[in-house]
Amino acid sequence: MNSVTEIFGSMVFNDSVMRSRLPKDVFKQVQRSIKDGRRLDSAAAVVVANAMKDWAIEKGATHFTHWFQPMTGITAEKHDSFISPVDGGKVIMEFSGKELIQGEPDASSFPSGGLRATFEARGYTAWDPTSYAFIKDGVLCIPTAFCSYTGEALDKKTPLLRSMEAINRQGMRVIKLFGNDDVTSIKTTVGPEQEYFLIDREVYEKRKDLIYTGRTLFGAKPPKGQELEDHYFGAIKSRVASFMKELNEELWKLGIMAKTEHNEVAPAQHELAPIFTTTNIAADHNQLTMELMQKVAKKHGMVCLLHEKPFAGVNGSGKHNNWSIVTNTGVNLLEPGETPYENAQFLLFLCAVIQAVDDYQDMLRIAVASAGNDHRLGANEAPPAIVSMFLGDELQNILSAIENDEPYGGKEQELIKVGVHVLPKFPRDTTDRNRTSPFAFTGNKFEFRMLGSAHSISGTNVVLNTAVAESLRQYADILENADDFETALHDLIKRVIKEHKRIIFNGNGYDDAWIAEAEKRGLLNLKSTPDCVPYYLAPKNVELFTRHKVYSYSEIHARYEIKLENYCKVLHIEALTMLDMVWKDILPAVSAYSKSLTDTALAKKALSAEIDCGFETDLAAKISALTASAVEKTKALEEAVMEGKNIGDSLEFARYYRDVVFAAMNELRIVVDELETHTSSKFWPYPSYGDLLFSVK
Ligand code: ADP
Ligand code: MG
Repeated sequence: MNSVTEIFGSMVFNDSVMRSRLPKDVFKQVQRSIKDGRRLDSAAAVVVANAMKDWAIEKGATHFTHWFQPMTGITAEKHDSFISPVDGGKVIMEFSGKELIQGEPDASSFPSGGLRATFEARGYTAWDPTSYAFIKDGVLCIPTAFCSYTGEALDKKTPLLRSMEAINRQGMRVIKLFGNDDVTSIKTTVGPEQEYFLIDREVYEKRKDLIYTGRTLFGAKPPKGQELEDHYFGAIKSRVASFMKELNEELWKLGIMAKTEHNEVAPAQHELAPIFTTTNIAADHNQLTMELMQKVAKKHGMVCLLHEKPFAGVNGSGKHNNWSIVTNTGVNLLEPGETPYENAQFLLFLCAVIQAVDDYQDMLRIAVASAGNDHRLGANEAPPAIVSMFLGDELQNILSAIENDEPYGGKEQELIKVGVHVLPKFPRDTTDRNRTSPFAFTGNKFEFRMLGSAHSISGTNVVLNTAVAESLRQYADILENADDFETALHDLIKRVIKEHKRIIFNGNGYDDAWIAEAEKRGLLNLKSTPDCVPYYLAPKNVELFTRHKVYSYSEIHARYEIKLENYCKVLHIEALTMLDMVWKDILPAVSAYSKSLTDTALAKKALSAEIDCGFETDLAAKISALTASAVEKTKALEEAVMEGKNIGDSLEFARYYRDVVFAAMNELRIVVDELETHTSSKFWPYPSYGDLLFSVK
C-alpha cells in the first residue's frame, strides 16, 4: 500500500489538483465562486469540465454523475458515460461545461412532499463548487444541489447551504461590533461520530426482517448481551480490524479524515469519528462514510447495520454532531479566549447557542425524529426525548455569577464584568463527562447527541445554524443601536441567561426525576415522531426559516409531509414483514415442532403405557397455547393495517400507526419471542439474537 499521505485525497479534484491543472485565471475564478457561492461563467466551466474529465479518465473513470441528496436522506446518482459519437462509428470522451454546472435527473420519483405535481416533475441539479468533485467506483461524482424548476429545494443540501449563509450574515454583524476587522466570514464546522453494527452476512441473509427493514422485528433475549460491558473499547477482532483498515483507506482516498475507531458498548457495535470540517462538507462526507461502510462490509463477508435499533434490549446506534463556529481567520468562537474582550465575545456566542436551543427545542427534536430513532430516545441508552443542555459546573458557575451579580471564584471577591474579566480556562476533561446530556458543551464545541445513526446530519445543522443565526440577529439589532456597548452587552448576556437558563441541566438525563423537573421548567418532552412533527408548522418556526430564507413555507410544509409519510411507510413495511414472517415461517415451524413432540409422545406410549412423556405433552400444550395466542395477535395486526387504509390526513395516519399498528406489532412480538424461547433451535426458522450478535468471530 502507498503511504497514507499519498493516498489521502487521491480521488478528489481538490485545490492542489485544480491549481496544477487549471489555467491561473480559471483557477482563481473557481476559488472565487467557492468563496462567494457565485456561479462560474460558462467559458470557465468548459475549461474546468475538461480538466476534470481528463483527470478522471486518468484515474480510470468512464462515467460522471451529479451526486445529490434528495429528501430520502440518502444520496442519489445517475451515471452518464463520457462517450460521445463521432464519424466513422467511433467515440470520443467528452464532458461539457453545461454538464458540469447543471443536470436534469428525472425527478418524479423522489419525495417532494407535494412540492411539485408529477406533470411538472422536472427538477435540476446544480454544481456546489464548495464541495470537491471525487471519483467513486469509476464514476466522477459532482456534488450538487437539487431544486425544482420553480427554485424550491428538493434536497437536504440546499437548505444547509442557505443556513450557513444565514449564520454568516448575522454572525458577521456581531463580529464587527467586537472590532474584528480582519474577519470577512464565519462558518460552522462539524465532526460527526458514527455508530454502526457489523454482523456476518450469512446470518443476515436468513433474517427477512433485517433485509426488509434493517432491524430485527422478533428475537428473544440472548443469554449474554452487553451486561458485562466487555465489548466497549475492547480489542478489535481481526475481521473487523481488516474491515476498518480498508474502510479507512477508502475514506482517505476521498479526502475524508477518518481518525478514530473503537468498539462500542453493545456486542458487534463500533464507532468511527472523522476530524471535523466545514458543515456542508462534513454532511457530504458522512453520507459517503455510511455508503462505504456498507460497501466495504460486504466485501469482508459482513453486513453493516446503520439502523438506530437493530436489536431490542441491546443499545442502539446514534450519531454525535460536534458543532462549532469558526472565523475565516481561524478563531473558534466557542472557545473561551485569552483576553477579556475575546471572552465577552465567547460569552455572547455561547448565549446565542443557549437561546437557540431553548427557543427551538422543538425543531431540534424534529431534526432527529424518525421511526427508527423513536426506539432510542428516552430508552435509557440515549438522551431522553427532552432537549436540554449541559455546560459543566465551571461555566455554569460563571453564568450564575453574571446573572446574579455575585462574585465568582471567591478569590478577589469581585463581580464578573463582561468585557473586563478574563474567564478561567476550562479544562476540557471536566466538561466532557456527562454522557447523558443531549446537548453538551465540550470545551470548545457543542456535541448534539440525539441524532440517529442512519440520519443525514443536514437537518440537524440546518436547525442549529438557523436558530443561532436568529439569536445573533436579535443581539446585533440591540448592540448596533447601543449607546454604551459594554453595558448593553453585559445586560444582554445577563438577560439571556435569566430567560433561557431553564434549558441548562447538568444532572443525569437518564433519571426519571429529570422528566418531572423538565416538565416543571416547561420544557418539551416530545416522545415520538407524530408528537413532534406538528411543531414544524408552528408560526414561530415558520417565521424563523422564512425570515432567514432557509425554507419557504411550502418547503417547510413539504418536509412536514415527508417526515410523516416516511414514518408511516417504515411502520407499514415492518408490519407487513412481521405478517410475512409469522404466516410463512414461524407458525409452520412451531406447528412442525409440536407435531414432532406429540409424535414422540405417541411413539413412547406405543412402546409402553408406563413411559413418562410429560415433557413432550406439556411442552406441546404450552406451544399450542402460545401459537393460538400468536395467531390471534397476527390477525389483530392484519386488521390494524387494513383499517388504517382509509385515513387521508397524514398526521392522523401517523398517529394511527403509532397507537394502533405499532402497538399491535409489539403485542405480537411478545408472544413470538416467548415461542422462540420454547422452541428447539432445529425448528426455529431464524438465527437467534446470540447467532447474530456474536456472528463475527
Ligand atoms: P471526544 O468527544 O471523544 O472527546 P473529541 O473531542 O476529540 O473527542 O472530538 C470528537 C469529534 O468532535 C471529532 O470528530 C472532532 O473532530 C470533533 N471536533 C473537535 N473540534 C471541533 C470543532 N471545533 N468543531 C466541530 N467539531 C469538532
Ligand atoms: Mg464525543
